[in-house]
Amino acid sequence: METKYIFVTGGVVSSLGKGIISASLACLLKARGYRVTIQKFDPYINVDPGTLNPYEHGECYVTEDGTETDLDLGHYERFTDIRTSRANNVTSGRIFQTVINKERHGDYLGKTVQIVPHITDEIKRNVKMLGASGDYDFVINEIGGTIGDIESQPFVESVRQLRWELGQNCLCIHLTYVPYLHAAKELKTKPTQHSVKELQAEGLQPDILILRTEKDIPAEMRRKIAQFCNVAPDAVIQSPDCPSIYEVPLVMHAQHLDEIVLRKTGVPVEGEPHMEPWMHFLDKLHSATQTVRIGLVGKYVELQDAYKSINEALLQSATHLDRKLDLVYVHSEKLDESNVDEKLAGLDGVIVAPGFGQRGIEGKFVALRWCREHDVPTLGICLGMQCMVIEYARNVLGLADAHSTEMDPNTKHPVIDLMDEQKSISNLGGTMRLGAYDCRLESESKAAEAYGSTDIRERHRHRFELNEAYRQALEDAGMRCVGRNPLTGLVEVVEVPSLRWYVGTQYHPEYNSTVLRPNPLFMAFMRAAIGQ
Ligand code: GLN
Repeated sequence: METKYIFVTGGVVSSLGKGIISASLACLLKARGYRVTIQKFDPYINVDPGTLNPYEHGECYVTEDGTETDLDLGHYERFTDIRTSRANNVTSGRIFQTVINKERHGDYLGKTVQIVPHITDEIKRNVKMLGASGDYDFVINEIGGTIGDIESQPFVESVRQLRWELGQNCLCIHLTYVPYLHAAKELKTKPTQHSVKELQAEGLQPDILILRTEKDIPAEMRRKIAQFCNVAPDAVIQSPDCPSIYEVPLVMHAQHLDEIVLRKTGVPVEGEPHMEPWMHFLDKLHSATQTVRIGLVGKYVELQDAYKSINEALLQSATHLDRKLDLVYVHSEKLDESNVDEKLAGLDGVIVAPGFGQRGIEGKFVALRWCREHDVPTLGICLGMQCMVIEYARNVLGLADAHSTEMDPNTKHPVIDLMDEQKSISNLGGTMRLGAYDCRLESESKAAEAYGSTDIRERHRHRFELNEAYRQALEDAGMRCVGRNPLTGLVEVVEVPSLRWYVGTQYHPEYNSTVLRPNPLFMAFMRAAIGQ
């Protein structure tokens, strides 16, 4: 079958969950046996989100091929179990950079280079790139931003042009918001009407409308919206708030979203999507009665998206083990010797989060010392693992001023240090050790037991490494380096075997954890936390 291109735009307000809707549709189409991928177009000028801090943009998600991407790609992978890559996240910055490089190279032969057609052609080339591989039946394209933004106009214009080129192989879904006014006790459709008008003014007519809402939208009101917005009545779907984002695929299916998409793109509708494993997960999510309390120690705890993949990996693993997750955020900047007892007591397990820079670092050492001395199952991720090493060096090896050269370039004991190849790099964008690398685990280790294998591959995002000069001393003192990169020898996993479960990974296991295949290390951590 010819590749179908589905575009998802958003209107009225941001944060409506276009990513979740796109991922849910992909999940349903995959469950019908189609080959699906999702890509995200972000209208900002940053070439990738790797240089954006979490206050601006939430978590930065890393793909296997080492691209720093938008956190929505995390949703795509978690919902579909399909890997994404550099091709799945394109920003305005990357589009402009390519066009400007071509212009400098002389590729435009004296022509004036313009938004239309040069920028739009480059956008269209990117839209069609994954489809051109022949690997996909459906390519879902999420357009970031909100309709009406200056930034997103070249993308909307490109979709308008693509509709002509692709004909029935192209479909537009517009996601809007229907607010409920408490004072008037009424749902309001006007913002949706305006949003669709705005879209029409830019030359796009949506085929399907999805209405985000906190209240049930009566059928009569949906018919009215269909009429005003020039959309078929059965193609107006509501998306109410759900207790879990993982329920959204079923809510969409109940309103036939997948069928409507197939019908409108000329694909015969046969049978039902195979959602049994997904429903099994949801059953477990709903029926769990026992709780597991996990503390997440980090400096961005007030931001709900900063540790998105960790939150989801924890939820997935807890659910698979029939536990309700009670996630307790522990602000590392506010943690010290005087309050650590009170803040960490009663936790079944602790995660020390990844991060950059000095802020909140001392709180992480306090937390780790407490976890080590109280033998609480602990997982340190990336900076969290580096902090495990520093805390161990300080308090067990007695190297009181041990540190990472990231926080203290003049430390006498740089137990965490920059890799040689990183020392000459001055640019910040895309220059870390990024993406999936092989790791060989010692067979007698908690990590190997977790994975059921000694050869694994996980994703990285860091500059600093455990300093080989201190490895022997750490091992002699009881911290074992049980995972190494087989090519470079770099240490990827540390453990303290005398403790119940105290493991640190230089890599990020959370990037590789999906609803149907939770990450094995998170599963092992969770098992330890619930005492299995
Ligand atoms: N800041 C540390 C480094 O660059 C850890 C990065 C991280 O936690 N992702 O090595």
